[in-house]
Amino acid sequence: MASISLRGVEKRYGSELVLRDCNLDIDDHEFMVLVGPSGSGKTTLLRIIAGLEPLSGGDVYFDDVRVNEVDVGDRDIAMVFQNYGLYPHMNVYDNMAFGLKRRGLPKDQIDEQVRRTAQLLGIEPMLRRRPKQLSGGQRQRVALGRAIVRDPAVFLLDEPLSNLDAHLRVQMRAEILKVHRAVTATAVYVTHDQVEALTMGDRIVVMRDGLIQQVGTPEDLYDHPANRFVAGFIGTPAMGFVRCTVRRTADSAELVGPGLRIPIPQQRAAAIPPDVDTVEVGLRPERLLLEPASERLGTVTGVVEMIEQLGSEYYVHVDVDGAVVTARAAREHRVRIEDKVQLRTDGSYAHIFDVETGAVYG
Ligand code: ADP
Repeated sequence: MASISLRGVEKRYGSELVLRDCNLDIDDHEFMVLVGPSGSGKTTLLRIIAGLEPLSGGDVYFDDVRVNEVDVGDRDIAMVFQNYGLYPHMNVYDNMAFGLKRRGLPKDQIDEQVRRTAQLLGIEPMLRRRPKQLSGGQRQRVALGRAIVRDPAVFLLDEPLSNLDAHLRVQMRAEILKVHRAVTATAVYVTHDQVEALTMGDRIVVMRDGLIQQVGTPEDLYDHPANRFVAGFIGTPAMGFVRCTVRRTADSAELVGPGLRIPIPQQRAAAIPPDVDTVEVGLRPERLLLEPASERLGTVTGVVEMIEQLGSEYYVHVDVDGAVVTARAAREHRVRIEDKVQLRTDGSYAHIFDVETGAVYG
């Protein structure tokens, strides 16, 4: 068991600062996901937690013990990488037993631990096979098995599913979570895929350019993104953004722009500084409906640019004076590309950001 804390962590490669002032607390037995675009520093942060990279600044703690100088072999961690890293000349059993043998555990204890883990992962019938006689999914299970068989305090996973096809990836996500529930380890999981992050994380860390943008539960990040980057990164289809003017009267406020008029509740308006007149407004597709407008609700008017069919429903990408927003539509609504459409939205769900910094208001 271990909690992990990062305090002011920095990493430099030559003159390039690839991690900047990273502060993070990961609870004991939490499943924490690091997500962000390629090059945002996720792997570097994971390798720092592992002890594979020296820090350029800051501190790392495992259970309140500073581990900056503790060697990777003494951190009680296990890692799983994208490329599995199985020994090709050993069978599954020996791959899984390898680390335990090196630690000098008695043979019957090794046997018990390997079989118990193999059972948990459903790979018992394959214990005598070599890695090349296994499918991609089976190999991934063996790699997981080899990591958890030692019962480590911390389980680090770096894009472990990216070599698998979409269907298997969904299945393996569920299996990894099942394994995590069955062990006591704290898990840190790196992915560039925000859907994977939302479906797997107890909490998620969103990274960009070596900076932590926001830490929160999937619901926090989706409903209350701290800035425009997180708002646009989390969620499929993505949030649409439109630049608007804030129009305030004595007892009401609305966001207005070409083709757009969205009344917002007073308390939302109060969160926008009085000297700010222009804001960036973010609208989630499920809050933009292809329905007639009403007085109380907002209206967005634009031209259909693209239609995305999902079977039960579909999404329309609508050009609103040069900005593109996505709206959800029921099957009954028949629209075609180039149709002029009116969308309805409730201003209490609009996300309002600073035009310059991208920080959320409210
Ligand atoms: P991510 O995992 O989010 O894709 P990385 O942590 O791999 O990002 O990389 C973050 C940044 O650090 C990138 O700009 C990358 O080029 C740089 N970087 C990573 N490893 C090294 C290294 N060994 N030497 C120099 N630069 C590196």
